[in-house]
Amino acid sequence: MPAVLDDISTEILHLKKKIGATILAHYYQEGEIQELADITGDSLKLAREATKVDTPVIVFCGVLFMAETAKMLNPAKKVLLPDLKAGCSLVDSCPPEKLHRYQEMLRENGRKFQTVTYINSSAAVKALSDWVVTSGNAEEVVRKIPESDEILFVPDKHLGRYLSEVTGRKMILWDGSCMVHEIFSVHDLVRMKKLHPTAQTIAHPECPKNILEHADFIGGTEAMIKFVGAYKEPVEFIVATEPNMMWQLESRFKHHKYLPVPGITCACNKCPHMALNTLEKIRDCMLTGGPEIHWQPEFDRAKEVLAKSLLNPPAAAKVQPQGD
Ligand code: SF4
Repeated sequence: MPAVLDDISTEILHLKKKIGATILAHYYQEGEIQELADITGDSLKLAREATKVDTPVIVFCGVLFMAETAKMLNPAKKVLLPDLKAGCSLVDSCPPEKLHRYQEMLRENGRKFQTVTYINSSAAVKALSDWVVTSGNAEEVVRKIPESDEILFVPDKHLGRYLSEVTGRKMILWDGSCMVHEIFSVHDLVRMKKLHPTAQTIAHPECPKNILEHADFIGGTEAMIKFVGAYKEPVEFIVATEPNMMWQLESRFKHHKYLPVPGITCACNKCPHMALNTLEKIRDCMLTGGPEIHWQPEFDRAKEVLAKSLLNPPAAAKVQPQGD
């Protein structure tokens, strides 16, 4: 908690008590939002934590697919998203009708496959899937799929390519990508590495190969926290993920220095969808009781796939937890 709360933060804390809410915030939210949250995390941690919340209301500070996931796993709770327009470029890259047509075409051609879907997808796409994964459990799920089946991985082609390399499984990759991780400047990264020769470069697997090949460590946000936390002496880290992640790292491990990799088109490279949530909108959603995530018909099937994938992960799990 901040030492001195400003008016709006005080108002939010008061409303939280009044309506019985728990605030969940993704690591890509602004620091002032993460600071107020009861729980911060990546998409896997937040999905799991959402199932343990004992208040009637969840205020989800993240993007739409994350709030939908929280609703699917907690049908009886009221789930509020401060701004309903907080979307995701990965979700947009995979319309469910297009995926359905593609799956039909593969089946007509006699292909036997399982669809493994990154959690950054719409509920309708999750409903068309065999598995829903985060970057944290994707490897264990992929390893569990029999070799006799092909794998259709949607929608993140970069994460899919990375998983294919790590597991040795060939994959049919959907042509989607995250607008934030897609546009890191390799030129700037290489220049930074020259200027800071002892720095450790950490990168999210949603980054393209040309960025990952310069990384000393590749992992989702939870895995980054573990990796950075293991360094007891001060170290410089060059960070290739959404820059709000640095608030989390700076808060936990103050003795290190963090250097963000800029984007090609935008020096700050923040996710514009995540940025739609503000303290004012968090207060307003608790005041008005909306926008609320309502149950949709496709949630029924999507929930089944989510629950078996995230809450009861395969027994052979041997990978580090990571996520968006
Ligand atoms: S950072 Fe990328 S993957 Fe995450 S919500 Fe923003 S656009 Fe989607």
